[in-house]
Amino acid sequence: MRVDNFINGKFIPGSSGNTEKVISPVDGKLIAAYTTSTKEDLEAIITTATEAQKQWQNITLKERVQVFYRYKAILERNINFLSDIIVQENGKIFSEAKAEIEKAIELCEFACALPQFAHGETEEVSVGVQCTSERYPIGVVASIVPFNFPSMVPHWTIMNAIALGNAFILKPSEKVPVSSQYIAKYLQEAGLPDGVFSIINGGSDIVEMICDHPKIKAVTFVGSTKIAALVYKRCTSNLKQVLALGGAKNHIILSPDAHQEMAATNIVASMSGCAGQRCMAAATLLAVGDCDHIIEKIVNESKKIQCGNNLGSVISKEAKERIENYVTEAERQGAKILSDGRNTTVVGKEQGFYVGPTIIDHATPEMAVATEEIFGPVLTIIRCKTIDEALAIENNNPYGNACSIFTQSGSIASYVSKRASAGMCGVNIGVPVPREPFGFGGWNQSKYGSGDITGKSSIEFWTKAKKTTVKWNPEAGINWMS
Ligand code: NAD
Repeated sequence: MRVDNFINGKFIPGSSGNTEKVISPVDGKLIAAYTTSTKEDLEAIITTATEAQKQWQNITLKERVQVFYRYKAILERNINFLSDIIVQENGKIFSEAKAEIEKAIELCEFACALPQFAHGETEEVSVGVQCTSERYPIGVVASIVPFNFPSMVPHWTIMNAIALGNAFILKPSEKVPVSSQYIAKYLQEAGLPDGVFSIINGGSDIVEMICDHPKIKAVTFVGSTKIAALVYKRCTSNLKQVLALGGAKNHIILSPDAHQEMAATNIVASMSGCAGQRCMAAATLLAVGDCDHIIEKIVNESKKIQCGNNLGSVISKEAKERIENYVTEAERQGAKILSDGRNTTVVGKEQGFYVGPTIIDHATPEMAVATEEIFGPVLTIIRCKTIDEALAIENNNPYGNACSIFTQSGSIASYVSKRASAGMCGVNIGVPVPREPFGFGGWNQSKYGSGDITGKSSIEFWTKAKKTTVKWNPEAGINWMS
């Protein structure tokens, strides 16, 4: 398949002349190719987006969201087809891919509901004097997205930003650019005017151009912390509004009183789902006191997971090697491998990139497997004597996306939730993703910028407030700052 830019309602190849291949991690086969973009391609998009936005902002919010009612129905009709594409380009299993589209549908529902709560406010601030606050779109905006959710992460921003009156440019991950082609096709089918949504394909050079371009007024980024920091600094130095979500190293604190089945199944699902390539995945298990009975269940649960069946591939050969090297290094340093997913192949898909569920026990807090983002189906266990020792390890990590506690005690749950240094906490939940209308966003090095990327706080991000103070009656409030 050929992957193109989407400019003014048309699919047009990038003009650099350099072709990039898209390899399926499922079996190592070529599935698509695209030509990378140039500065001229981005300029062409910005010109048409600027024109389109002028018209789009003049329509009411109620009318703009009608596109997303139709778009939601299109997503629902094509859910299996879209899920298959995600499986091919990203490697996750079908049910996980389908969950991405289901989440996109939920995000669509939120965007459709915006007229119910993204309205202005009016108050009589002095006798006969009214102050009104109204939300205005920002203009042309852009989102730069990672490989691990080819459809869900773009949908975090596309619909709210467009519904609120902006023109939107998407820079997909070069590893998974195919799903975005169908976002463009279906938005057009739903009646979105040409130029309001655009796609530019490419890598770091295009990202830098987006950060630098004065006509792009706001940028969101989702990806690794290293690049999030670069994008945040570059955009802010260009006086641009930016929210940049970075990587993660999520901790689960396990109390020995936890419900055994619930803890084991949830923890294994969290560490292995999407092959551990989730910014909300369980990465480090802080086992407090004697948790052997639950750890044994976790290991047994992990044995039910089979690559190519209920566990997908990781994104690339390099990712597989990186993940396996982390495990080998931990073993060399004295950690115990309870479940070993290295050197895994799937019959009939020998060229795919698979890592089986891997559990490392008796790691120390200083080991790389305990501190760095591995982004694979690997759970590192650190044994702790007390909840406070576990919390100290969690608090000391530089990231802050998610933290969960597994316990049957309300007081332990509340003690941990209050003290964890993470933006998204869970109690007996392996993947504590807040659902709409709550916003998604971490703390510390997992997010640069203020507010969350979804939910109500995204309304603040995608709009600017205009406050108007009005006095009509000459006799009213004559002393009101006049
Ligand atoms: P990545 O940082 O490598 O790439 C993300 C985007 O940045 C891509 O579009 C890529 O083209 C671009 N990019 C890559 N290198 C660049 C450079 N040097 N300069 C400018 N742009 C560059 O991330 P990835 O590997 O695609 O995704 C995995 C990472 O994303 C993990 O760290 C994961 O935790 C993180 N992630 C975070 C969240 C969150 O909500 N916090 C959500 C999903 C993924």
